[in-house]
This record gives sequence, C-alpha cells and structure tokens, in this order.
Amino acid sequence: EKIKPNTNYIYLIQGRVFPDYDPRELGVSTQILIKAISKASGHTESEIISNLKKQGDLGLAAFELFKTKKQQGLFTKKLTVEKVITNLQRITSLEGKGTIQTKIDLIVDLLHSADATESKYILRTVLGDLKIGVGNGIIRDSIVENCFKPESMEEKKKLSDEVQAAYNKVTDFAVVFQKSCENKLNELKLSAGRPVKVMLYPKAKGVEDAFRIVGKPATFEYKYDGFRIMINKDESGEIKLFTRRLEDVSKQFPDLVEFAKENINAKTFMVDSEAVGFDPKTKKYKEFQAISQRIKRKYEIEKLIKEIPVELKVFDIIYLEGKSLTEEPYEERRKILERIISEKDWKIKLADQITTDNEDKASEFFDKALEEGQEGLMVKGLDKVYKPGARIGYAVKWKPEDKDFDLVITGAEWGTGKRAGTLTSFDVACQDEQGTLVDIGKVSGGLKEKKEEGLSYGEMTELLERSKISEEGKHIRVKPSIVVTVQYQNIQKSPSYSSGYALRFPRITRMRPDRNAEDVATVGEIEESLN
Ligand code: ATP
Repeated sequence: EKIKPNTNYIYLIQGRVFPDYDPRELGVSTQILIKAISKASGHTESEIISNLKKQGDLGLAAFELFKTKKQQGLFTKKLTVEKVITNLQRITSLEGKGTIQTKIDLIVDLLHSADATESKYILRTVLGDLKIGVGNGIIRDSIVENCFKPESMEEKKKLSDEVQAAYNKVTDFAVVFQKSCENKLNELKLSAGRPVKVMLYPKAKGVEDAFRIVGKPATFEYKYDGFRIMINKDESGEIKLFTRRLEDVSKQFPDLVEFAKENINAKTFMVDSEAVGFDPKTKKYKEFQAISQRIKRKYEIEKLIKEIPVELKVFDIIYLEGKSLTEEPYEERRKILERIISEKDWKIKLADQITTDNEDKASEFFDKALEEGQEGLMVKGLDKVYKPGARIGYAVKWKPEDKDFDLVITGAEWGTGKRAGTLTSFDVACQDEQGTLVDIGKVSGGLKEKKEEGLSYGEMTELLERSKISEEGKHIRVKPSIVVTVQYQNIQKSPSYSSGYALRFPRITRMRPDRNAEDVATVGEIEESLN
C-alpha cells in the first residue's frame, strides 16, 4: 500500500527538520541535551555523563536510561512527527543566551512523550548524527518504489532520473515525494527566490578527451579559482546570493549584490557565476583560500570589501523573466547573458572564452589561462542543456594533472605526548553512488603546528570539537560537515575501509568551507583515477 504523503517525515529520514534548500542547523550542544535528558528522566547529569562514556553515544545512553520508562507509565501524550518537527524547528529559530532554557524545555517536551527508541533517534537527530546512512540516492529510489511501483529496471532508472531532476529544481524531498505520489512531478519548477543545486562538471584528461565528451566545436572558458555564487533576483526585486551549499551569503557580499542589481538588466533571473578575489593594488587575482574568510564573516564587512575585493565572473544563466532556461542550449544561454549584462571591470564580467574545434588553439588558450594564474579551463558543449545538481559531461573541467580529492572528516584521534590535547589524525570519507558516506582512510599530514603558518592542528581541533558526536578512548566521531582537499601519491585497493580503497601518503592541503558532505568525491571518481 502507498504511504500517504506527509511532507514532514521525509526530513526526519534525512536527519533534518528543514528541506535541503534551507541549510539551517539545529545547533544544540551535548551539554544542553544532557540537561534535557536529566530533566526528562530524573537522573543526575553526572549519571548521564558516565552513561554517555560507557555507551559512547548520547542516543544509546538515553536509550538505556529510558528503557524502563514504559512500565513506569511516564508517557504524557502520543508523540507525532508533527510534534517532533515543530519543536525542533522552534529550537532552530531561538538565538541568544536567554533561550537555552526554552531549548531544553522543547526537548524535554519531546522526551516526555517518547519511548526509549524514539528518544534515541530524537537525540541523534538533534545532534546531527543521522546523516551517515541514508544518502539522497536512497531517498530518491524509495520515492520511486513507493509512488510509481516500476516493473522493469529500465523503467526504474527512467523514473529515478525524473525524480532526481525534480528534486534538483526544488531541493525539497517532501514536495517531490508528494508530487510523485500525485503523479504531478512536472508541476515542479525553478523559482528565483530559492537556491538550487548547481550543475557540476566531471574531469577531462586533456583537450582530446574534452572534445570527445562535449562535442566539437566547443567553448573553452577560463576556470577561475573563486567560489560559486548563484545570483537570484525574484519578483520582489531583491537580489540573493547562494553558495553551492545553498547558503544565503547576500549579507556577506553587499558589494556583489550591488554589482548584480546595477548591471544585470532583467526583472527576475538566476545567474551562475564565480566570485574571484583580487589584490586591490596590483589587480592580480588571488586564490580561493584568500577570500574564503569573506564567506563566513558577519561583521566589519565594509572593511573586508576594501581589503579583499571580489569580482563576479558570470558564466551561465538558468532562469529569466519567470521562465526556466535549463532546456536551452548553452550557446543560447551565453548569448542571453551577453545581452542582459553590462560588463564593468573589477565588478562584473562575462567569463573569458574562445569557441573552437582546433586542438592547438584550445591548448594555447589553456597555457594562457595557467600563465595568468587561473586553474585551467572549463570546456562547454554548445548544444548542451543545464542540469541542476548533476555532475554530467555537458561541460567538463580541464586542469593540469592533480592528485587530490575533496573528502569529509567523520572522526579524529587525539595525539599523544607533546601533542596530547590536539586532534592529529582524521578519518575521511567519500561517497558511494547512492550518496552514502564511505571511509577511505586516515590523514594526519598537511596541517601546520603553528597557526601563523597556515591551517593548524589547533584550529582543526577547535572546529571538530564543535561538531563532536561521541567519544571513545582516544577517538571521536564528528558530524560530517568539514570538507577538506586531500592530496595523495597513489590509491590502493583496501579491505580496511568501506569504500574499498585507501589513499597512500595523504595530506590535507586546504579547507573547503564552500562544500558540504554531498560535494565530496565519489567512489566512481576514485576508481577512475586508478588507471
Ligand atoms: P573538485 O575537482 O574536487 O570537484 P574543483 O573546484 O577543482 O573541485 P569543480 O568544483 O567541479 O572542481 O570545478 C568546477 C567549479 O569551477 C565550478 O563549480 C565553479 O565554481 C568553478 N568555475 C570557475 N570558472 C568557471 C567557469 N568558467 N565555468 C564554470 N565553472 C567555473
């Protein structure tokens, strides 16, 4: 029998309480949860802490403490999905010091009506400890199974693609689930006020490979080393800037909002671009690392705009005047950009490009890009459409051979001796084809001893401690939220890790604050690098 669509419980399956386009996190610390469990169970905080040490996980600790609850008749009301979602959403909207008690009360309210198992999952949801396990692919395929009951593998594949495409437009599985069950997926459309997952690009091995994938002739465009910004303007005229993690960074970049407002001449749009930092004196482009601090900064923004100015390099458009352009060929989309954008030096420019069918010309352009300090080229198929959220060969990236992957940290280990008190070894994970995180090894190299020298062990320790989920001996588990670029010398098959692979001589080369766990390398990409 079909499950009746309920817009809410799918978020809980995802370990969240909001749709994916709303990246708000619950932000409740272990300390607060301990207080809540204490209040709900009548056990003292130190009893709970010692239970936590024994179980290694707050969810399990609560399970143990609440196990006997049923017999004691402690239930007040029946727990509903609605109630869980409402209370947890309210917690997110509370900010500031005076609100801690209210947060505790909201959790206690849930624990009062929950049995031991429910308590376990409520606490894990609040801690963000459910994210490993159910990748987006699994949710998508479950929707297909439940709403469409496909009869063959081909049908299943086709429906999976349709459900995925719909999700990529609205970034909300609850809505996709509902529309799937009503057989009205085609009603789901892009909307200019809402962030959307950007299209991603696989790697090409060189110019020949690039032409083979995207077709001939193709457009070769500079690959700028900045960060992705989707510039949206909705009917109200407001401009919003979204990162590829779907975070609204308009407040951090009032300069870019202004450039877009003045120079993109249309009432509503969604324009895809790269924001690139430059040195205000020498007018030389800076690498991403130099501007990444602007993404997080919420104060002294005016000062930062002067110190680290940023230019928009516009390279695509997917929505204009109320209509989606995703089905238009790339060539057309670029023409539209040329028509609606007034270029201004050091504010907003179209990406530099050439269109050619000649390998030599393309290679010359590649060398020129590298000489000017760009990362390489993007190669775009002229007749190709835009697929939000897909990493697909409608365009490819062409960079000098590099051996690194973006991976997410899922755990870490405390150092010993002189390094006690600092986390010095990090468990890293990539994702399988279903979007589920799988381990690919431990990394301890690459970070610096001192803060002045760059990304240090101390800084990493601080960051990871904030997303700690549980601790056992010298090992901690963390919410998979910190993405790093890991360089390696080679890859080996390895039964020790769930990905089936291990990286040899890995080192962390940089932080990727603009990425989240969904953006990390896939097992497929890792397999491809073997040959
Ligand atoms: P990884 O290889 O690990 O995925 P990366 O940054 O090297 O990391 P991608 O992120 O896939 O590789 O490269 C594509 C990114 O390059 C885009 O997401 C975008 O932010 C940036 N970019 C820079 N210039 C362009 C351009 N002209 N067209 C499209 N994307 C561009």
